[in-house]
Amino acid sequence: MSDDIALELSDVTKIYQISQGMFGGTKPLRALDKISLQLRKGEVLGLVGESGCGKSTLAKVLLGLEKPTTGNVRVYGQPFGTHDRRWIARRIQPIFQDPYSSLNPRKSVREIITLPLKVHSVGDSSSWDKEVAKMLDLVGLPQRLIDASPSQMSGGQRQRVAIARALIMRPEVVICDEPTSALDVSVQSQVLNLLIDLRDELGLTYLFISHNLAVVEHIATRVAVMYLGRVIEQAPAARIFDAPKHPYASALLDSILTPDPALGVPDVNLDGTFPNPVDPPSGCTFHPRCPSATALCSAKRPEPVEQAPGFVTCHLHDPEIQKELT
Ligand code: SF4
Repeated sequence: MSDDIALELSDVTKIYQISQGMFGGTKPLRALDKISLQLRKGEVLGLVGESGCGKSTLAKVLLGLEKPTTGNVRVYGQPFGTHDRRWIARRIQPIFQDPYSSLNPRKSVREIITLPLKVHSVGDSSSWDKEVAKMLDLVGLPQRLIDASPSQMSGGQRQRVAIARALIMRPEVVICDEPTSALDVSVQSQVLNLLIDLRDELGLTYLFISHNLAVVEHIATRVAVMYLGRVIEQAPAARIFDAPKHPYASALLDSILTPDPALGVPDVNLDGTFPNPVDPPSGCTFHPRCPSATALCSAKRPEPVEQAPGFVTCHLHDPEIQKELT
């Protein structure tokens, strides 16, 4: 693994056993299905897909909140292996959607930002105030807010506090899970620009999960599109927004043209609804909705095919399969 790979997932699968009622036993739900991804140091990988596609499960696995059923995660070459959540938290930190619910309303900004240092026994009370002051400068908050509580702050200020708390441990990777979705449109771009500045200044690597494709286009250097637990296309952001290859990626990215992209959830222009993940379609799980599906698609599962610098998981782009069909 090269030194500039900050985060690597190899064949990560997460299966939940879902109860089918009193006499129905359980059925497996494959929330993540052989996910393999690499994030280079300093890059922003945008992760997009409809609700239920597995984005949140992936975030939980990367934060150590869920263990993968199979597969490995490495941060700077070190496997999660048997490490506990504290080990992971020193390297990977989250920024969540709603800063109000993720901040304790009874604590001051000073207490909120200091908490990770206390939990991880980093420094002592004499150094904590200096660290908090530095973080307030870094995220563009005035020092006078140090004793304010979240309820006395605007949504944008609260998200800056959440960012300061995530960064005070100097993590290597940050999982940004819809970090601007709960903010006014006017504040969203300020927070996005702050995240870009912090990445440059601190050499951070982001996995940026969002429904909002306009936001992903603004910040991501590379994009991975998920459908029913699989990454179905991955490519540099400019390429994927200009010319997506997978039929689902194409339909999803067309949804950026909805009248109000700030609405977030894209209006995917496809027949059929999102399938039941406990009872997924055979072959390519996208086939019931795919405008380009052939008989092969319901019979054979497509595997990722390299389309440098990225990949696409679709029979249409598999040269071996296309050769057989001609
Ligand atoms: Fe559509 Fe078939 Fe490609 Fe799946 S494999 S995306 S069904 S063309």
